[in-house]
Amino acid sequence: MWTFLKIIRLNRATVRSLNPLPRGWTVVLRRSCSSASSESRFPNPSILRHLTSKITATGAITVAEYMREVLTNPVSGYYVKNDMLGADGDFITSPEISQIFGELVGIWCVSEWVASGKPKVLQLVELGPGRGSLIGDILRVFHQLQSVLHGAEVSVHLVEVSPKLSQLQAQCLAGEYTCGGEDELVYRTGTTHTGLPIYWYRSVKDVPRGFSIFLAHEFFDALPIHKFQRTEKGWREVMVDIHPEEPDKLRFVLFPTPTLASTTLIHEDEKRQHLEISPEGGVIVQKLASQIAEDGGAALIADYGHDGTKMDTFRGFRGHKLHDVLEAPGTADLTADVDFSYLRRMAGDAVVCMGPITQRAFLKNMGIDARLQVLLRSCHDATTRAQLIHGCDMLTSPEKMGSRFQFFSLLAPSRLTQPWEEGEGLGRRRRGPAPLPVAGFSELGL
Ligand code: SAH
Repeated sequence: MWTFLKIIRLNRATVRSLNPLPRGWTVVLRRSCSSASSESRFPNPSILRHLTSKITATGAITVAEYMREVLTNPVSGYYVKNDMLGADGDFITSPEISQIFGELVGIWCVSEWVASGKPKVLQLVELGPGRGSLIGDILRVFHQLQSVLHGAEVSVHLVEVSPKLSQLQAQCLAGEYTCGGEDELVYRTGTTHTGLPIYWYRSVKDVPRGFSIFLAHEFFDALPIHKFQRTEKGWREVMVDIHPEEPDKLRFVLFPTPTLASTTLIHEDEKRQHLEISPEGGVIVQKLASQIAEDGGAALIADYGHDGTKMDTFRGFRGHKLHDVLEAPGTADLTADVDFSYLRRMAGDAVVCMGPITQRAFLKNMGIDARLQVLLRSCHDATTRAQLIHGCDMLTSPEKMGSRFQFFSLLAPSRLTQPWEEGEGLGRRRRGPAPLPVAGFSELGL
């Protein structure tokens, strides 16, 4: 009972006790970190030219290859060249909408660290940090909870493929930083404004081993997917080809025979007619799972998603509007809903998976209403109060982001089991307190 109360205190009382808005109001803070997204507004003919030459030379390409080229081609990729986030960009994400989002995720990280027995080393790892807003809000929470984190060696590790965004992250998060060489695994290092070491990598496989809390917000939906269609002859892969009548246009075609991907990626029990699978996402989840199983820690993955029910979700966003995925490649974000049933299968049995649950349920369980009330009590400016209320409504309302966004977690099995006394058979007894409930995934009450 005592331990249960302790976690409630960390959730609810901590949510209330954080200083109201220590680094200025959200909107001001966000604008100060942004840079104009000018390039995303104009066509990027070099990507289309590159794709058509490639298809002419080697034949139709997979949707995964198309996505990879359009989004992360090192010279002209959409993520590589643009700051696409925010009101002036192509889409907006929860951490950009309200600082409360990052604050609650920060409390989640601390509560998982406490529930894991407060290990000495705590690596905070974020995949695809965008402008760095989420990790910035989390670091502010960590700074305010120094008394809880006392003695922990905290370090920050960012996995970011975009030079443009990583530069923005460094400007927002680090008091000082230095850049490594092109070929180095750690391509930038620095110290955060709160005095923690911070490192940048291009791939999660380069992050050092050790107890880690991994965060991925709107990261998995940006990873390349293969698309498959069930036909009378079996599964066939959807490919991207040049339109036969318009050589500067692209179109989808079905490959006539099975491909390597269609024969290796589709589960034998699959019932759907159309499928989207990201093997890259599967490999990353496997890496997180094996590290968590061996070194302890947890992963929190939040994204547009479903639990193995949806079929055709591949879409583009430009200027906050839906955009044809094959039109003017490189000028719009490309995304596909995350299939959490696939991630669960890839994670395997070495970790425990929680969720997916809706963003609304997760944030309500984490005490978003209490936090909003605290912020409103200390804010007397009518416009800012309206923004705070609007932000929370955007995040939690089922018609807005509350239902479409899902939270999913990987945990070390030891996190959820009560340790046993030494001994045999019926003589064995439980040792120590029952494990703490997992914040956000259970309704902890007031
Ligand atoms: N998490 C942020 C940004 C989401 S946009 C937010 O919610 O606001 C996707 C982010 O993932 C961007 O930072 C993009 O550059 C990064 N990204 C996309 N593909 C990646 C890859 N293969 N490896 C590393 N980072 C990637």
